[in-house]
Parts: sequence; C-alpha cells; structure tokens
Amino acid sequence: MPQMPPYGEFIFGHEYAGDIVAVGKTVDEFQVGDRVVVEAHMGCRRCENCIRGQYTACLNYGNRARGHRANGFTTNGGLAEYAVNHVNTLYRIPAGVSYEEATVVMTSGSPLFGLENAGGYFAGETVAVLGPGPIGLMAIQLVRALGATRVILTGTRESRLRIGRRLGADVVVNSREKDPVAAVMEATQGKGADLVIDCAGGDETFDQSIKMSKPGGKVLLVAFYHGPVTADISHAVRRNVTIYTERGEGGTSVGRALALLAAGRLTAKPLITHQFPLRQVHDAIDTLEQRTGDPLKVVLIP
Ligand SMILES: [Zn+2]
Repeated sequence: MPQMPPYGEFIFGHEYAGDIVAVGKTVDEFQVGDRVVVEAHMGCRRCENCIRGQYTACLNYGNRARGHRANGFTTNGGLAEYAVNHVNTLYRIPAGVSYEEATVVMTSGSPLFGLENAGGYFAGETVAVLGPGPIGLMAIQLVRALGATRVILTGTRESRLRIGRRLGADVVVNSREKDPVAAVMEATQGKGADLVIDCAGGDETFDQSIKMSKPGGKVLLVAFYHGPVTADISHAVRRNVTIYTERGEGGTSVGRALALLAAGRLTAKPLITHQFPLRQVHDAIDTLEQRTGDPLKVVLIP
C-alpha cells in the first residue's frame, strides 16, 4: 500500500479484535475487559474532509504528526499481543459474536461504505458481483440486506463460487467457462444489471463491469487493481453509467456491519478457512500467498 512504512519497520495487520487492557485518562467510552473490534482508519480530525466525515479520504493521510492514523497501513497494526487504538476506531463486539467473526467483519466495512456511496438502496434490483473473494462474498450478503432481489456472481474458482451461492447468489457464472458479460446479459434479458460491483480487480473486470451494467446503471469499484487497466469508458458515457469508488471502511460502516452480523443478516464464518497461532504468522502469510488449501480469510489467534 502507498505510504506503508518499510517492511520490517512496523507491525502490519489492519483487521483485528481483542480485549481492552488499559484506557487513556479521558476515556469513559470503554472499560478494561470490553471486547472490541477495530476499524483501520482514524482521520486527522482537522482537515476539511475529516470535518465533513470523510475520514478515510483524509487530506493528511499518512501524516502522523497531524494526527492521522491508519493502523496496519501507515501506523502499527494488529499482528501483535497489544495495539494502541483511538476510541474513534473501536466497536464493542456484540454478545454471541466471536473475536474471529468480528475480525472478519471489517472486510464488509469497505463494500458497505461503497454501497452507501452508490446510493445504499437496491430494493428489487439486480446486482452483479465480480470476484468471489472475501469482499465479494460480503458484498453479496450486503446487497441482499439492502433489498436486492437478484444477485449474479462471476468468478473463476469453483470452491468460492459455491460459497457465493450459499451466501445468496442466485446465478453463478464461472468466467473460465462462459463470458461473464454475455452471462449477465442473458440473465437480465439483455438489459444489464442495475448495479455492478467489481471486487475482482482483474485486468479486464473494470471493462466487463461497464459492459454488464444497464444503461443508466451504476458500477462500484471496490477492488484494488494491480496497475493501470484498460476499459471502454465511452461505453459508460454513451449509456450514462455512473462509476463509484470507495476508500476503506468509512462512514462507521464497521459498526453497522457488526450490527448486521449480530442480527443474523451477515455471516462471516464461511470466510474463515484457516487459523494459526500468532507465533506462526509466517505460515499464515505463506498460506495466503501460495493459496495453499484455497484460503479465504486466514485468522491469527493468541
Ligand atoms: Zn483529515
């Protein structure tokens, strides 16, 4: 990530949960013993974006002297026994939600914030989701909770597509076997989807997203791309397609995702495929990097 301190000089890990073991002098929002989960971003609270509530797009991003923190990105994160967090970045874990599930719920904070940017209301609409990774699998559940009545999922890995079906995708397309744009057009009688969410970040998925949205529809980009990508932007302009982005888990969306989880409208359990003790952090990262056993979320536990 941009502005990340050099490897070896800071503690990474931006999705974590734990117990409060100490509080600052003025803190009365939390007490020792509370179970909490974090969001990564704390804005500087002094720039115009922060004042307007857009703290994940802080104008002092990465400037620690001005008070900005993004734990696990620009300041120390959670792959440790202890971490320091501002009260603004903590949420109490509801009873019945485990630390592991709470940790993964931050993965739904980003798509939830993106969906809010894209209007946040999808009653009766058809949504296409590209990429059945952790964020895509959360996005499926979130658009369901926000009223979408039909969800089409495209991706390449069969095991993940199966989980997508379990979590609410009505139509599942393996894009190795079938052109995903043609599949979405077919499933929507040639209209295209009302909303397309790119959670894949592939070389072609932005272009595909534009082409599978209906005229006047919306495209939401949640993925990070590996580098510059090519897309037929004119196709979007000619058809009045609106493109939205999101940065991080803004809008206190982690807290709201946690509420959805506690209410049973979101599940994190199927995403947790591996667990390792913290001292085996290298094994955990190897598992993710080498895709050993098709990992989705690898959780480190004490
Ligand atoms: Zn700021």
